Amino acid sequence: MLFKKSFTEQTINAVQIGNGTVAFQGVTLNVHCFVLDGVLIDTGSKSLGKEFTPFFKQQEIDQVVITHYHEDHTGCAAFLQIEQNLSVYMSDVMLDYCTTKPNYPLYRKLFWGKRSPFQAKAIGKTFSSRNATWDVIETPGHSIDHLAFLNRATGQLFSGDLYIQKKTKVALREESIPTIMESLRKVLTYDFEDVFCSHAGYLKQGRLALQNKLDYLVDLQENVIKLYEDGLSARQISTTLFTRKYPIILFSAGEWDSLHIITSIIQEHIKNTLSVK
Ligand SMILES: [Zn+2]
Repeated sequence: MLFKKSFTEQTINAVQIGNGTVAFQGVTLNVHCFVLDGVLIDTGSKSLGKEFTPFFKQQEIDQVVITHYHEDHTGCAAFLQIEQNLSVYMSDVMLDYCTTKPNYPLYRKLFWGKRSPFQAKAIGKTFSSRNATWDVIETPGHSIDHLAFLNRATGQLFSGDLYIQKKTKVALREESIPTIMESLRKVLTYDFEDVFCSHAGYLKQGRLALQNKLDYLVDLQENVIKLYEDGLSARQISTTLFTRKYPIILFSAGEWDSLHIITSIIQEHIKNTLSVK
């Protein structure tokens, strides 16, 4: 099978950015890594190892921090730890999982490769680089271990997969939209302007972009709850609000689906109504 891979590099506001892309049959996925002040944020996918390795080698990296355990963020962690002798830090929630050979669906293995086991260390609430202290902000929802990193000296936020795009149209089965909303609200209490997203890259007016995403999700949540209370099923709500069948839904055999957005909102709604009674 022919997977087309490409890689680009650029520097924005002192952040060195590497962006790798994998394309196959009309589906294009991409992932970014960032370097600032000796800190590498995320490691790309194993499938893009050849593309990312020269980028890593030309940087001055003192330490590696990881936003979450997914294979497109942890794919080169083993290489950086073993070959480059670097310490790797992440949330303690998925530390053990990352020491094992993971099992995930075939389409992810094809696009992102098979992530090798690595030994990360628990990151804690803050960490230091050459010139700055960084906040480690727990931002679950996309995954249970998700973190965002804020360089306090520069006000630059590395948001991992918290943003991805303004209008969420599909979600992973493991995602929770209400938890993502809580994480967006939390992050917005911090002082930052620049945002670097693992998939969208540098966000111009980053704070506004995160606020706009939150506003979109607030509206979406209201619409879902209204239709649910009108008696529609989760699937009916999904086809009402999301008329397009996105290729990734078929490709991932439903691991990505608009339906997961609806079910996570309904589940949270039921929980809240029960706890009020
Ligand atoms: Zn992810």
